[in-house]
Amino acid sequence: MCGIVGYIGKKEAYPILIKGLQRLEYRGYDSAGLALINSQGNLNVYKAKGKVADLEAYCVGKDISGCVGIAHTRWATHGEPSSVNAHPHYSASGRLALIHNGIIENYLTLKEKLSSRGIAFQSATDTEVLVQLIEYIMTSNDIGLLEAVQVALHQVIGTYAIAIVDRMHPDTIICARQSSPLVVGFDAEDNFYLASDASPIAEYTDQVVYLNDGDIAVLQRGQKLHVVNLDNVTQHPKVKQIDVTLGQLEKGGYPFFMLKEIFEQPDCLRDCMRGRINADRDKITLSAVIDFREKLVSARRIIIVGCGTSWHAGLIGKQLFESLCRIPVEVEYASEFRYREPVIFKDDVVVAISQSGETADTLAAIELARKAGAFVFGICNAIGASIPRMTSTGVYIHVGPEIGVASTKAFTGQVTVLSMLALTLANERHTISEERYKEMVVELTQIPDKMEQALKTNEQIERLAPIFTYAKNCLYLGRGYNYPVALEGALKLKEISYIHAEGYPAAEMKHGPIALIDSEMPVFVIATRDKLYEKVISNIQEVRARGGRVTALVTEGDTRIRQLADHVIELPDTLECFQPLIASIPLQLLAYHIAVCKGKDVDRPRNLAKSVTVE
Ligand code: GLU
Repeated sequence: MCGIVGYIGKKEAYPILIKGLQRLEYRGYDSAGLALINSQGNLNVYKAKGKVADLEAYCVGKDISGCVGIAHTRWATHGEPSSVNAHPHYSASGRLALIHNGIIENYLTLKEKLSSRGIAFQSATDTEVLVQLIEYIMTSNDIGLLEAVQVALHQVIGTYAIAIVDRMHPDTIICARQSSPLVVGFDAEDNFYLASDASPIAEYTDQVVYLNDGDIAVLQRGQKLHVVNLDNVTQHPKVKQIDVTLGQLEKGGYPFFMLKEIFEQPDCLRDCMRGRINADRDKITLSAVIDFREKLVSARRIIIVGCGTSWHAGLIGKQLFESLCRIPVEVEYASEFRYREPVIFKDDVVVAISQSGETADTLAAIELARKAGAFVFGICNAIGASIPRMTSTGVYIHVGPEIGVASTKAFTGQVTVLSMLALTLANERHTISEERYKEMVVELTQIPDKMEQALKTNEQIERLAPIFTYAKNCLYLGRGYNYPVALEGALKLKEISYIHAEGYPAAEMKHGPIALIDSEMPVFVIATRDKLYEKVISNIQEVRARGGRVTALVTEGDTRIRQLADHVIELPDTLECFQPLIASIPLQLLAYHIAVCKGKDVDRPRNLAKSVTVE
């Protein structure tokens, strides 16, 4: 969680920091702050509760000059969201200022130790111990900042991406990472940029270094980037080129990123399949599978790990792998998997899914699987994130930066990658016929066009949305491939409109949730024409018999459900296994329009943050 930005160079830092924070605001937005060293050597820290706009308002009339600075947008873990707890935190003497993303697990022990030596703490955060500890080590041992950071980080247990400035050395920013992402960008004009992901850097340079765990980077004016580890051994991280375009980082005329991202999905899926499905549309080539064919094809079992929306994509993956490849699959919440004692075999393939590639629980699950000797396959969106670096191989979903906190295009991108992977393995394992394989590949390539058709339901859904704003609870029902779609639809609504919603397998409803149904309760049923169609019609009847209000997603031309449901939304037909790619679109739009009707901040829902880099 949280966003970190830093700049040192020849330009004024403030506008770069503010713009960077705005780009990273999806990562956390309960408070924000920045530190600048001006030309007189003063270290000014400004902090405000609320969003980046509140920080900007707070800075009006203040001295915001300086060509070196660090900034932070917070997602509180320790200490309430307030201006005191916002970052940066000053050291006791006011000489240092530090920002941090992550959690210092042994902060209480360190705090007690420092307090007993007379250091007074200002905030309730875990973060403040870092800056106090570093200054304490620096002054009591009479050593420089870099060495003090190394000594301090040896004592710290937890996760961090940090950046520190020192008013005695206004020509340097020091930053370090352990399990929280950090990217350093640089150009030929002696400017250094620092951020939690590449999005704040993209408009200034395309040359970046993704720091590795244990790296400490020294950004010194006029010098080359210098990276060492905690034991002062020089590191040589690879310079990478970022490929994010500015257009991808802007709203492009849409009122919210979420709506833009919903509408981008057809193009995103075309990008996701480009170069992987040939022009004749009869062959999928995933280089990850070519390189590790034996491991993947002979998998005894697949374990899919993920959190939230990625877990829902995993549930669809399970059905794909089981029905097409005949490989048994388990789908696990990464946060549960990592702390159970799961049985993992050496011939298991663990598929880890995360949009950001930085989800803390998913990374821990990968580590566990690796230690048990399993082969780990990553599916992620953010280029250069931790997942591709920690896994044996994997596939990027290539849907471009996802900024709306509620995931939309990443979900359909993940399902598309899982579909391509399942088809490839099924073909290699001969568990489906060559003819069936080709038919399915052709159909997959048609999904973006069908999504475009599904997006035409937008106006109808916008008209329907006000009907549901009164609801306190909603039920989403689906079966088979559409059950995870129901879960995902309910999650979207909860996330952005704060209406309680439950996704349930339609037939299971009578084992409990049916008791909740009355005329006040909207029930959304995914009732597209597939092998469970008749069963779902019976489930709709059961809801109707109890006075429930049904809105059904149906296959175009369906006349039977039209007679039963209060509202129907028609969708193009496709193969059952690809239906989630189509059916999730109206549910994303529904959640979006309901939230807009309720006046909610769709891109920044309360209490949430985009990439959950803390456990
Ligand atoms: N644990 C720190 C805090 O609560 C940092 C949280 C973050 O990553 O935003 O202040």
